[in-house]
Amino acid sequence: MVKSLYLSISIFVVALFFIPFHLKRKVDTLEQTLLENQTLVNLSSAILLRWHNDSASRIYYASQNIHQLIGCTKQELESKALSFSHCIYEDDINRVLQDMQDAIEKKLLTFTHKPYRVVTKTNSIKWVQNHTLLLRDANDNIVSFVSYITDITELKNSELRLKHLSQTDQLTKIPNRMYIDAQLQKQDYYFRRNAQACSILLIDIVFFKSVNDTYGHILGDAVLVEFAQLLKNSIRKGDHLGRWGGEEFLIVLPHTNIAKATALAQKLRAIIYEHRFCVVEHISASFGVSSLVDELSITELIDAADKALYTSKAKGRNCVTYA
Ligand code: GH3
Ligand code: MG
Ligand code: MG
Repeated sequence: MVKSLYLSISIFVVALFFIPFHLKRKVDTLEQTLLENQTLVNLSSAILLRWHNDSASRIYYASQNIHQLIGCTKQELESKALSFSHCIYEDDINRVLQDMQDAIEKKLLTFTHKPYRVVTKTNSIKWVQNHTLLLRDANDNIVSFVSYITDITELKNSELRLKHLSQTDQLTKIPNRMYIDAQLQKQDYYFRRNAQACSILLIDIVFFKSVNDTYGHILGDAVLVEFAQLLKNSIRKGDHLGRWGGEEFLIVLPHTNIAKATALAQKLRAIIYEHRFCVVEHISASFGVSSLVDELSITELIDAADKALYTSKAKGRNCVTYA
């Protein structure tokens, strides 16, 4: 019974969103189909919204289960007491409207929004998948829209959790190299496009091997965690700290030239030097600093910081060198 219900709904949705071009003008038939299938849609967890292409985007049909999604009733929407666009999360609304505008300009029959968020009556946030069908009259003017909306909150949250996991270092809980790589790509784009400055600091704990050798690997791990927290608490919100690998950390500094980055490196070097770590008490770090310039790729930027770090080590460690 349930299987055949899902099968019917699937067929209905496929029919709804993949109508070939030559059927475009059969709006009346489609309207009829929609009417006949409303009961079917009401039995599923998906939501059907239909609204006029007028300045008020007046909703003239909302399926019962809209209540499950945003907590307001079908009657509230249909009587215009509430508008669906007011339930769209404010950071997503422009994107949703832009998707709509693009579809109209491209004269599409159907389109799928990128997943977006809605805010429920009780102020919780949910993610939705939304397919929209544009119904046109014989003169090709859009008369109304039909949206088929499904709640994908659980799926989206799992995706976000997985993304967070894939970009987080499991020991220190700060971002990992994968995250830093993505940030560097972004900064490279801003630099090429807007000449927005960006520098990086490569940080290496001095003689960390001897920490492990003296106190054991577990305590060595604890030092890495404390070290990461110390760095995290000493930088600005817009800076991006990550564990580059082993006992090496990298900080991406947007809007920062080489002079300011070097000054920050000196400040961090002193903070680390003065900090008293649990059990091991005293550790220090060597720094390499580099900045984006026209002729440098991201790989060369990192290489320049690495060479500067190597120079810091050669100079006796616990110091800062800029490329
Ligand atoms: P230098 O001043 O030249 O950097 O000396 P160093 O001893 O810090 O450098 P080296 O590259 O010889 O050793 C790095 C050490 O970091 C060796 C490695 O076992 C340790 N290490 C890397 N990752 C971890 C980790 O996740 N946990 C622990 N406890 N140690 C780690
Ligand atoms: Mg190292
Ligand atoms: Mg080291």
